[in-house]
Amino acid sequence: MTEKDKYSVLFEPVQIGPVVAKNRFYQVPHCNGMGHVRPRAEAAMRAMKAEGGWAVVSNQETEIHPTSDLAPFAEGRLWDARDIPALRLMTDAVHDKGALAAIELVHNGGHASNLLSRAPILAPSDMAIENVIPMQARAMDKSDIRALRRWHRDAAVRARDAGFDVIYVYAGHNMTIAQHFMLPHMNQRSDEYGGSLENRVRLTRELLEETREAVGDTCAVAFRFAVDEMLGADGMQAAEEGRAIVELLSDLPDLWDVNVAGWPNDSATTRFQPQDGYQNDYISFVKQVTQKPVVGVGRFTSPDLMVSMIRKGVLDLIGAARPSIADPFLPEKIKTGRIDEIRECIGCNICVSADSQGVPIRCTQNPTMGEEWRRGWHPEIIAPKLSDQEVLVVGAGPAGLECAMQLSKRGYGVTLADAADEPGGRVLRESSLPGLSAWMRVADHRLYHLRQDNNVQMFMQSQLGADDVAELGLKHVFLATGARWRRDGLGRSTYRAPPQIDKAAQVFTPDDIMDGKMPPKGPVMIYDDDQIYLAAVLAEKLACDGYDVTFVTPANMVSPFTQYTLEQARVQLRLIELGVTLLINSTLVALSADAVRFACTYSGQEKELANLSSVLVTERRRETTLYDALRQRGGLDTLNLIGDAASPSLIADAVYSGHMAARNFERSPDVIEADWFRRELVATDKE
Ligand code: ADP
Ligand code: SF4
Repeated sequence: MTEKDKYSVLFEPVQIGPVVAKNRFYQVPHCNGMGHVRPRAEAAMRAMKAEGGWAVVSNQETEIHPTSDLAPFAEGRLWDARDIPALRLMTDAVHDKGALAAIELVHNGGHASNLLSRAPILAPSDMAIENVIPMQARAMDKSDIRALRRWHRDAAVRARDAGFDVIYVYAGHNMTIAQHFMLPHMNQRSDEYGGSLENRVRLTRELLEETREAVGDTCAVAFRFAVDEMLGADGMQAAEEGRAIVELLSDLPDLWDVNVAGWPNDSATTRFQPQDGYQNDYISFVKQVTQKPVVGVGRFTSPDLMVSMIRKGVLDLIGAARPSIADPFLPEKIKTGRIDEIRECIGCNICVSADSQGVPIRCTQNPTMGEEWRRGWHPEIIAPKLSDQEVLVVGAGPAGLECAMQLSKRGYGVTLADAADEPGGRVLRESSLPGLSAWMRVADHRLYHLRQDNNVQMFMQSQLGADDVAELGLKHVFLATGARWRRDGLGRSTYRAPPQIDKAAQVFTPDDIMDGKMPPKGPVMIYDDDQIYLAAVLAEKLACDGYDVTFVTPANMVSPFTQYTLEQARVQLRLIELGVTLLINSTLVALSADAVRFACTYSGQEKELANLSSVLVTERRRETTLYDALRQRGGLDTLNLIGDAASPSLIADAVYSGHMAARNFERSPDVIEADWFRRELVATDKE
């Protein structure tokens, strides 16, 4: 069977109510930090998915009314008709590329803080809300419920007028009022909207019926529903009320978009959920209960897995958020038999972290994500070379690999050299740590391309000095030489009072551990002033290797950055389960051969731990030895420092930096300066 035949089932059309999806690839709604604040950027990003072959391209949760105000986060907004033109940008752009456009209408109830609108917060019952703000939600009375139904209906009509083909009712992620009414712990009502399951589902049924009445002749009505809260008997379970709800509403929507709640479970990272298709056990019953098409997610990147989902009758449409972010052209690559070219999502949730911080989406694997409009970047197309110059890239980590790959795609002759035995840099090293093996996909994707291209020569075990570079005779040099972890304990919490580190102290760095240079067996202290992710991963590794680990941090939790990637609770729980002792709010003061001293970050009161070796995870020093030497020597036409050597950061930032440098090669500095990205400016027209 040819690959084309093997995957042809994925390209069958699917009827969804009154509309037809041209194939089974369905980009489910996902947040992106653009929304109503940056509608042009969102339109261009969604259009890129349509161009890449997704049959349905959804926007993100779209507030239907000021009582569902998610400010300061940049989600969709359709409070009134004035929001239509911004959403039109997306529907027109998606239609132009031949896909259907879907909108995820939402009322967030007590998940919204209403900080902008200052409207009362609405909920099934009186309760403190999830976000820590000094405002409680109030129980909706019957007139509130009637108003909510009207708001949703009116928003559906506006969505149709904005050109959407598929209109959602949304009860998922523990973020929406329809779901809040379903959950007994949030709904303590005694009227016909509370108590029995049928009563708790009443509001959703009304929203579905009224959306259909309003727009169902031309638009499909989709229902996004979390079938399981993954809390066992403490929450809604797929085998019990989850299934009963699907049975109750069975053929009411035109499409079931099913997943698990809350968002950290739905968008689980590979660190904690390595299995692609990880939601299947929860959602596979849905198709047995409804005649309507079903879409589901689970980080699907393998076309074989997708086909098996269809053949086994689990799904009708292959849903994807993150796989479509990492590779907007995933359907097109499958269609044209370019499976090996798929840029597979690594499940790191850096995309989510941007939304969590209220800034435009970015992606570790796809540096063009979020840059479609403001920089005009296309994930598959890059400008051809401007001359026959040849380039040298030193360092085959994420920055060097991306830079070399894009330069080779542009047509330049590329020499890539690295001192290490294997390419990959920090990706190779970090992917050997617990839970991070999928991160190697960042290097694999780029190496696949580089190894295909005759214009590329790769040299490993090649530590280059300035003389070596001069000898090579290449006049355009990109240095992606990375960064190394400090050994002196200096970091974000210790600039005012650098720790005193005795020469006799047993100090290790993350680089030591990743190089296999391990502390002596016994008690070990990991000091995390980096506060991103690595220290907790190392603690996990050492605990699994049998060390008695104490994790010390000036922060008030383990790995605070991982709140943005939806992992923090799991990170901390993992360490607790592994028996790691946690010492938070503690700043390193001194380290000697037999003791380590900390101070409470609030009171300064000191505490001592005795007889342990120490791993210091504080900050990195940029590796600029070669850069400094080449600058001093001169004689090059261009010298570019990129990636962690330019600015130690996330892998996503290293890839981005490598990509940017390749795009800007042979563009004049003035043009680059003038070409800093486009911005969506606030209109100052009269209302
Ligand atoms: P980034 O994240 O910026 O891509 P990495 O730390 O992942 O950086 O990778 C840097 C790579 O550069 C490492 O693989 C390292 O071996 C290599 N490297 C550093 N200095 C030199 C040098 N002088 N010659 C060759 N390779 C080097
Ligand atoms: Fe996947 Fe990470 Fe990209 Fe998100 S940022 S799409 S999780 S690779």
